[in-house]
Amino acid sequence: TRTPVNVTVTGAAGQIGYALLFRIASGHLLGADVPVKLRLLEIPQGMKAAEGTAMELDDCAFPLLQGIDIFDDPNKGFEGANVALLVGARPRTKGMERGDLLSANGGIFKPQGKAINDHAADDIKVLVVGNPANTNALIAQAAAPDVPAERFTAMTRLDHNRAISQLAARTGAAVSDIKRLTIWGNHSATQYPDIFHAEIAGKNAAEVVNDQAWLADTFIPTVAKRGAAIIEARGASSAASAANAAIDHVHTWVNGTAEGDWTSMGIPSDGSYGVPEGLISSFPVTCKDGKYEIVQGLDINEFSRARIDASVQELAEERDAVRDLGLI
Ligand code: NDP
Repeated sequence: TRTPVNVTVTGAAGQIGYALLFRIASGHLLGADVPVKLRLLEIPQGMKAAEGTAMELDDCAFPLLQGIDIFDDPNKGFEGANVALLVGARPRTKGMERGDLLSANGGIFKPQGKAINDHAADDIKVLVVGNPANTNALIAQAAAPDVPAERFTAMTRLDHNRAISQLAARTGAAVSDIKRLTIWGNHSATQYPDIFHAEIAGKNAAEVVNDQAWLADTFIPTVAKRGAAIIEARGASSAASAANAAIDHVHTWVNGTAEGDWTSMGIPSDGSYGVPEGLISSFPVTCKDGKYEIVQGLDINEFSRARIDASVQELAEERDAVRDLGLI
């Protein structure tokens, strides 16, 4: 029998947490043969609701779930963690300035990064979901100097999945026929979903679509603004699809990308494609044996270059802002 994997989830009592925990416990995060122990981290006000969720998890009698513990102290929450899903964050409220948002989140992600540094397992893998995800990941990573920087990642998989779905709908293709799509940059309205290297049943996606106006005026804004459209329709933010993307992100990181395909992950830049080193930006990556690599050598056309640069510029500004606030 395998030793259980410790999975820490922050913001466990929130909407995304509710959609996420049951799938982790049923084996979708790591594999149907991998036992897990859940460590739920909440703020004190969230503890009672987290206990309620834990009761429901108990009631599922999941064969792979070997334990649930709930904490409001990050030092305990990340103890022995092999995988950490940082979901809880301070949302932007009406009238809030960007500086206020970044400093409120700095107050969450800096101590969490430090706690990961001091208490997590040596093989820790971190996914940040809570927004602004890329910069929150940067703050946590900077606070964890003893953990290899590449273990800190930010989620752009939901954008990736949304882009595949939109492309499938437009072309009538099956989602499973779409490969090599890329999200570049920040998980924000400036993100750039790139279909120039994507394939639909083996053919170049941009050529299949053959409609630059649709790409610029419909596809890109639809993907980038999908979150707002969900709120408008549902009266609440996307939670199940965000949780699903978090599952996909970690599952792919641990279990690998399919031959001939890649995925999108927000990861510390090594300078590839002109993205300044250290910024946590989304790239096309392949995964194998629990590690990822940036896909190299893609030809970036002018249309893509301008959009990648704009999103990376926004990331650099966020980094400068958190640096000025003393958060990194
Ligand atoms: P959600 O579970 O709906 O969302 C959590 C975070 O995920 C938000 O930052 C949200 O950003 C982000 N997010 C990323 N992608 C998406 C997406 N596609 N759709 C929606 N959200 C996305 O928030 P709740 O308010 O329901 O729950 C948050 C929980 O976190 C609460 O229980 C709270 O107590 C807890 N918390 C825990 C902390 C801790 O453990 N230390 C710290 C802070 C909070 P956005 O706001 O931009 O939608």
